[in-house]
Amino acid sequence: MIRNCSDCNKILVHSVNTLCPECTKKRNEQFNKVKGYLQKHPKARLQEIVNETGVSLERVREFAAEGRLKVVPVDLDIKCQICGAEITFGRICQKCQEKFSQKSDRTTGTESEGKSGRMHLLKSQRHKK
Ligand SMILES: [Zn+2]
Ligand SMILES: [Zn+2]
Repeated sequence: MIRNCSDCNKILVHSVNTLCPECTKKRNEQFNKVKGYLQKHPKARLQEIVNETGVSLERVREFAAEGRLKVVPVDLDIKCQICGAEITFGRICQKCQEKFSQKSDRTTGTESEGKSGRMHLLKSQRHKK
């Protein structure tokens, strides 16, 4: 599998990461800077962190969204991508996460109904194993 580093576009071969080793290292350094700054200044605002650490606003948001920061910028506003509720980390809120997992459980049963062609295909594939 070949993909490009999402930061410097270097070609990555057989990599499960989206960043090359150099960018991963750089990113970790940036993370530690942001984390360290927030530990010393727990009430820091996003723009302040950007100015003081030199890490881009986008990246600071990324770190916060990953949920690895124990202290997050006070004016950080991440919203659930489904319902728009305010959340502190991740992409969707707890409620939507629960709804989403329930939904995907149900659809696997109903979706294959009426699509007998696909059902047959799935069955024959299973027999081969
Ligand atoms: Zn890179
Ligand atoms: Zn939601």
